[in-house]
Amino acid sequence: YQGKRGAADIVVYAGERMAHPTQWLVVQAELRHALERDELVLYYQPKIRLADGAVCGVEALVRWQHPERGLLPPSEFLPAAEQSGLIEPLTTWVLRRALADQREWTAAGRDWTVSVNVSARNLESAEFGPLVVGLIEEFGVAPGRLTMEITETAAIVDVEIARQALRALSALGVGLSIDDFGTGYTSLARLRGVPLTELKIDRTFVDGVLADPENQAIVRSVVTLAHGLGCRVTAEGVETAEVAAWIAESGCDEAQGYLYSRPVPWADVPMMEEVR
Ligand code: C2E
Ligand code: MG
Ligand code: MG
Ligand code: MG
Repeated sequence: YQGKRGAADIVVYAGERMAHPTQWLVVQAELRHALERDELVLYYQPKIRLADGAVCGVEALVRWQHPERGLLPPSEFLPAAEQSGLIEPLTTWVLRRALADQREWTAAGRDWTVSVNVSARNLESAEFGPLVVGLIEEFGVAPGRLTMEITETAAIVDVEIARQALRALSALGVGLSIDDFGTGYTSLARLRGVPLTELKIDRTFVDGVLADPENQAIVRSVVTLAHGLGCRVTAEGVETAEVAAWIAESGCDEAQGYLYSRPVPWADVPMMEEVR
């Protein structure tokens, strides 16, 4: 069956679960309301410093508390947000929430950085850099306590605007991280001149590292590359003590994964100090 192609067909992205354009448009409209009604929530997952096992930071991971469908993971609504422009208010919401939470942890004496995931679409807007700078001032958070994670799988179309935003944030002291490193479009040439502080090795390499010499070679090379660039290396998706031991041995600086903690709601975050 070959249906008539309407405008909505253009927004369908290949390989995703949401096959029907109408369903996609519903999500988009609902998401707009979700932002207005404050239905989004942040979960936090700790980052562990491998040298001493201490929690050194938390990553904010957005969920949508949908009135009918329950708690939705980002894969259910982020693609729609990115395609529709709603990613801008969504990221602003995430930043405000994360900075407010960070301010409370700092007041409670916790020495954590907070990592926020930023879409490549955000970085293509010239307003993004100034927006983040303004929010840091508004919340009175030390810029060094905020890290931006940029997913490597999203190709940045306007590299120059992105570079400007990243340089401005870096000049303030904001940390810059490449997320899911090893899976995407970051050529080594593009890494030059971007003041990165962290590379996060994608969990597909970490997960199978014990059984697979190729993954071991990849993890070791990313460690060498990161340290050569003056960055920390974080391994994501650490699920077993054996993998944790291997990645610590290989020179990774930090780790995240279900071994330490799943992402948890804000109220459960103080308990994370006991995850070690
Ligand atoms: P990510 O930033 O790479 O986050 C890691 C994802 O892996 C999270 O999924 C986390 O729950 C999951 N994870 C953590 N440890 C383990 C583990 O040991 N094993 C396994 N199997 N999974 C683990 P989540 O929360 O569903 O987020 C998926 C992606 O959505 C994130 O990947 C990030 O790219 C994106 N995302 C999440 N929150 C935001 C946000 O606020 N803004 C933007 N732009 N993207 C976000
Ligand atoms: Mg991330
Ligand atoms: Mg990641
Ligand atoms: Mg990932």
